[in-house]
Amino acid sequence: MSEGIFNDYGSYLRSFFPDFKVQKLSVNVGLTCPNRDGSKGRGGCTYCLNSSFSPRYVGKGGVTQQLEAGKCFFGEKYPNMKYLAYFQSYTNTYSSLEHLVALYEEALATPDIVGLVVATRPDCVEPDVLDYLAEVSRRKFVAIEFGVESTLDTTLERVHRGHTFKEAEAAIRATADRGIMVGAHLIIGLPGEGLLDFETHIDRLSKLPITTLKLHQLQILKGTIMAHQYLEHPEEFGLFTPEEYVEVICQLLRRLPRRIYVDRFVSQSPPELLIAPKWGWKNYQFVHLVERRMLENGWQQGDLLI
Ligand code: SF4
Repeated sequence: MSEGIFNDYGSYLRSFFPDFKVQKLSVNVGLTCPNRDGSKGRGGCTYCLNSSFSPRYVGKGGVTQQLEAGKCFFGEKYPNMKYLAYFQSYTNTYSSLEHLVALYEEALATPDIVGLVVATRPDCVEPDVLDYLAEVSRRKFVAIEFGVESTLDTTLERVHRGHTFKEAEAAIRATADRGIMVGAHLIIGLPGEGLLDFETHIDRLSKLPITTLKLHQLQILKGTIMAHQYLEHPEEFGLFTPEEYVEVICQLLRRLPRRIYVDRFVSQSPPELLIAPKWGWKNYQFVHLVERRMLENGWQQGDLLI
């Protein structure tokens, strides 16, 4: 139903793979993160609890084993499905070129894997890794997803990201210049930010050569630095009700150019890890509400730009 209202990730994948369904399969290859191992920082980003964003089938065994487990998980329902290996957890360009090539090539050699999606930090993409991925992108689907999270350096500093927005801009341009598709990830609702700031994020990212945008609401997870901050000063966190978040997302979509595909709007962490907000909604339920609100008001992605 989203077609016409906004450009979703499904239509993005269909434009590359018109003949079969494609699903991202997460793999955790045990790479760490410079914001955790001491080269940038030790505690990580204040909101980060990495175990919260790996599906259940992930993390056991090597790349092939994890991808095969993921294929079993989805393949029962969709026997003709093909897959993108999604290097999701931590910083998936943070290793030597030799090691990274071995991991990526193992994924590409797995039957039914039709491409790579690599999630990383903007300050962690060396030119040799980009050159290699550019070469792969001439034979396979390749996208790099950058955790931008905010375009305000004050916020990036406050949440201990350990990089600036300028670094994100440079990484996005260096990647797109090589012909590799770029995704950007934003967290909506970081402390100190409001609707005008979220709109600034969208406007700034819209000027960059990104193809996809992934949004999610701020979640306070147990065991994070932010969990302590939240419990001490909940008044500093303007967490949304679902209705408020639907409205924010609609307004952001309205200023997002049509050339950018929207990957998702919400993230759903395991309930046992989540402190707040406890919505209990799945992405598809949220998408439905956004579509309805957009439709009822005659809104569309990018209509404010016309
Ligand atoms: S959110 Fe990403 S960059 Fe931040 S500490 Fe966690 S893994 Fe590292």
